[in-house]
Amino acid sequence: MEEKIPYKIYLEESEMPKQWYNVRADMKVKPAPLLNPGTGQPLKAEEMCGIFCEELVKQELDNDTKFFDIPEEVRNFYKMYRPSPLVHATFLEKALGTPAKIYYKFEGNNTSGSHKLNSAIAQVYYAKKQGLKGVTTETGAGQWGTALSMACQYFGLDCKVYMVKCSYEQKPFRREVIRTFGADIVPSPSDTTEVGRKILAEHPGTTGSLGCAISEAVEVAVTNEGYRYELGSVLNQVLLHQSIIGLETQAALKKYGIKPDILIGCTGGGSNLGGFAAPFLGEMLRGEANYKIIGAEPASCPSFTRGVYAYDFCDTGMICPLAKMYTIGSQFIPSANHAGGLRFHGMSPILSELYHQGLFEARAYEQTAVFDAAVTFAHAEGILPAPESSHAIRAAIDEALKCKETGEEKTIVFNLSGTGNFDLYAYKQFNEGTMTDSIPTDEEIQEALSKLPKVE
Ligand SMILES: *Cc1c(COP(=O)(O)O)cnc(C)c1O
Repeated sequence: MEEKIPYKIYLEESEMPKQWYNVRADMKVKPAPLLNPGTGQPLKAEEMCGIFCEELVKQELDNDTKFFDIPEEVRNFYKMYRPSPLVHATFLEKALGTPAKIYYKFEGNNTSGSHKLNSAIAQVYYAKKQGLKGVTTETGAGQWGTALSMACQYFGLDCKVYMVKCSYEQKPFRREVIRTFGADIVPSPSDTTEVGRKILAEHPGTTGSLGCAISEAVEVAVTNEGYRYELGSVLNQVLLHQSIIGLETQAALKKYGIKPDILIGCTGGGSNLGGFAAPFLGEMLRGEANYKIIGAEPASCPSFTRGVYAYDFCDTGMICPLAKMYTIGSQFIPSANHAGGLRFHGMSPILSELYHQGLFEARAYEQTAVFDAAVTFAHAEGILPAPESSHAIRAAIDEALKCKETGEEKTIVFNLSGTGNFDLYAYKQFNEGTMTDSIPTDEEIQEALSKLPKVE
C-alpha cells in the first residue's frame, strides 16, 4: 500500500544519520591537495595544525574513509534543530501550474538561519576537545558568524568574528545576534591586523570581501596562543559535516519511495550543495544511479560558469593556502551593489573536481531574477528565503516551468539553505526597484585571473 506523502517529511530520532559521509572515498580522481603558498608543496598535517584543530586536519586530509561517526555531543546539539524537514512544495507547484513534483530541504529552521550551524557545532566541538581557548573566523552575510557564535557559546569557547564591512553596515541586526551569543565582532578590513591595514592602504574605502576577512581572521588565529581559525565553507571537512543534509534528504525520500530526477543547490563556497548532493553524487560515482545536479551561482561572482580550474589563494590577502578550484581570481571583488550573497571568488576543491569530471552542471543567475523567484516562493510557501538560497529556487522554478512546457512530471529536490529574515536591505532594494544586475566584464575577470599564482 502506498503511503500518502505528507507536506512535511520528518525523520524519527531513530532514523537520524549517526555518521557523516565523505564523498572523496568514492571519487577515483581525488580533489587536488591544498598547497603551501611558500613552497608550492602539498600542505602537511603539521603545517595545518597551526591554523586548524588536529581532528579537523585529519578529516581535511582523509580521502579514503567513507563514514565518520558524528560525536554524541554533536548529535545532541543537532537534536535542537534537526532533522530539518523535507517539504513537498505543493503550494509552489500549484502557483507555477507545473506537473513537476517539487521538494525542498529546509535548513533555515535555527537562529543562525542557515545550514552553517551543521559544521560550526562540529568544528567548535573538536576545538573544545583539543583544549583550545577560542576560535576566529570571517563572516560575509553573517550566517556563519552567527552559527559559530552559537556553537562557541554552547561549548564555552571564545569567538572572534571578522565581518565583511558592507554586511556589517547593511545587517546591524545580524551583528547584534552574534554579539548576543557572546562573540567579538570586527568590521573587515580593519586596522586590528597587519593584513587588514595593508588592504586598507591599497584599497581605501573598500567595502571588503570574504577574502579580506579570511586573511584577517587567520592572522589573528596564528598569532594568538590557544586559538585556531574555522572556516564555514570551501574546505573538505565542511562538506563532510554538511553531508548530514544530503543523508537526511536521502533517508526521507527513501521513506516514501520518492526518486529524484533533479537536485539543486546554490553555490558560494560549495558547502550546502556539496553536503546536500554528496550521497547522490556518491551513487553516481559508484554507478548506481544518475541524477541531474545543478549548482546555482550569482552572475556577479560566477566561479563555475566563467572561472578557470586552477590553483588560487583562498583569500584576497594571499596568505592562505592555495586550493585547486574553479576561481575567478582571489583579487576579484564583486560589485558593491551585489546584494545577493555568494560573494566568494573560489569554490570547494571537491565540487570543483566533480564539476571538472562532468558530474553536475552550473548556472549563473542575475540577482533581480533571483529575487523574482524568491518572492514567488515566499508568496506560495510562506517562507522568506535567503538571497543565496533563492539562486537554487530560481533554478528549481526554471526546471519546473520547463516541465510545464513539456508535460514531464520530473521530481525536483532543492536545498533551501536558509532564511532571509536578516536580508531585508536586499529585499528593500528589490521592492523599491533600485536593485540592478552587475555582471563583470570579460576584461575584469581576465584582470583578476592574470594574478593567479604560478603553480607547476
Ligand atoms: C553561506 C550560505 C550559502 C553559501 O555557502 P555554501 O558554502 O556555498 O553553501 C548559501 N546559503 C546560505 C543561506 C548561506 O548562509
